[in-house]
Amino acid sequence: MSSINLKCDVLIVGGGLVGSTLAYALAQAKISTVLLEAHDPDFLEQPSFDDRVTALANGSQRIFQGLGLWDALKEVVEPIKSIHISERGCFGTSKIIAEEEGVSALGYTIENRVLGDKVWSQLSEFNSLTCLAPAKLDCLSIVNDAVTAGVKTKSGRCKVQAKLVVAADGVRSKVREEMGISVQEYTYEQHAIIFNCQTEIMHHGQAFERFTSNGPLAFLPLRRDRMGVVWTLDPKQAEKVISLDNKQFALELKSVFGSRLGRINRIGSRATYPLKRVRSDVLTARRSVLLGNAALSLHPVAGQGFNLALRDIAAIAELLADTNHADSKADLGNDELLACYQASRLADQRRVSQFTHGLVRLFGYNSGLLAMTRGLGLMTFDLLPGAKATLARQTMGLNGRLSRLSRGLPLSS
Ligand SMILES: Cc1cc2nc3c(=O)[nH]c(=O)nc-3n(C[C@H](O)[C@H](O)[C@H](O)COP(=O)(O)OP(=O)(O)OC[C@H]3O[C@@H](n4cnc5c(N)ncnc54)[C@H](O)[C@@H]3O)c2cc1C
Repeated sequence: MSSINLKCDVLIVGGGLVGSTLAYALAQAKISTVLLEAHDPDFLEQPSFDDRVTALANGSQRIFQGLGLWDALKEVVEPIKSIHISERGCFGTSKIIAEEEGVSALGYTIENRVLGDKVWSQLSEFNSLTCLAPAKLDCLSIVNDAVTAGVKTKSGRCKVQAKLVVAADGVRSKVREEMGISVQEYTYEQHAIIFNCQTEIMHHGQAFERFTSNGPLAFLPLRRDRMGVVWTLDPKQAEKVISLDNKQFALELKSVFGSRLGRINRIGSRATYPLKRVRSDVLTARRSVLLGNAALSLHPVAGQGFNLALRDIAAIAELLADTNHADSKADLGNDELLACYQASRLADQRRVSQFTHGLVRLFGYNSGLLAMTRGLGLMTFDLLPGAKATLARQTMGLNGRLSRLSRGLPLSS
């Protein structure tokens, strides 16, 4: 059994979308970093990089621009020109149009697999970053001013010592468990079926969000005239629908969505996600920060999870880069820095969590009066520029205090 020992300033556990993006940001700031990822990122079974489609808000586009990654991404994203919102069986509909909001796109879509691949392919360029994959965090201890991680790799075990550990290891975070941080869970009794498809009528950059009595159904425009679909159903219906053959599945889907996009063709592989909100009680603990799904896992109805995590990445990367820049020997896991991070991010986290949860609950009940209010809400929403602008700003990721990266500026300026 081999035993290597690595020392660094920041240990990131989890190299999914969140951990790998933070690793890239810290490497740019020349902060000595080790990234641990349980799966081999080259293998197709890396679950973080599956067929899901992420809708990147404009705020996220600016963060990628500040990081210098947007040039690689802009070739592979699809701009969202409008979002059409409707409710099955109700008269109200609403449309948010990029031009009306004074932007060229409301956001951009990209497959998680493509995004993950683009970020990971850049990670080998930096001397300050060591990537261990496949390598799994096994245990964690904090003694005096250092965190020590026990890691299992293919060739045996090793130890990594750091000043700060970042939990980017997903909703069942081992770091969070080892730090004894508790969570609040809310089960939605809904499953999301995700898949990509082609439609008879081209999308022309239109996204569709349709609220049904079972949950929301979203069609997102993708490159090469494909669409990414997130179909939310109660668990029993999801189980029934997922087992249908492609032809029956397409017919069932069309009966819910209608014929706005014509026939639904070339349905790709389907995956099911049980939906929960899992919110950790704190964003930081001694020498540790929780990010992404480890901090807050959301219902996908408003496509906010990764966009919120990017703003968290921008904030923590800026604090670490500034501290390191001021004094290259500074302790990057110090209490003051962590308190500053938590204070700067808590309000945005709470707002997005409440906004998303509220949206699911508003459209998750079937009372006639509520349905009518929702119908009127969607109709008047179109007539109320203020309300629409608020939703558009939330969707585009423009609410809250903006870090340098969030303004499209590099970390070091
Ligand atoms: C159906 C669906 C649609 C969505 N759509 C959108 C959208 O449009 N826009 C948006 O902003 N968000 C969206 N989201 C949310 C988004 O997918 C998440 O915010 C994002 O995936 C979180 O990434 P993460 O890196 O935090 O976690 P994960 O993707 O779970 O990654 C965690 C990583 O940690 C690794 N890991 C775990 N344990 C260990 C360990 N012990 N040691 C080492 N490594 C470990 C795992 O292998 C994995 O790679 C959606 C979510 C769902 C379910």
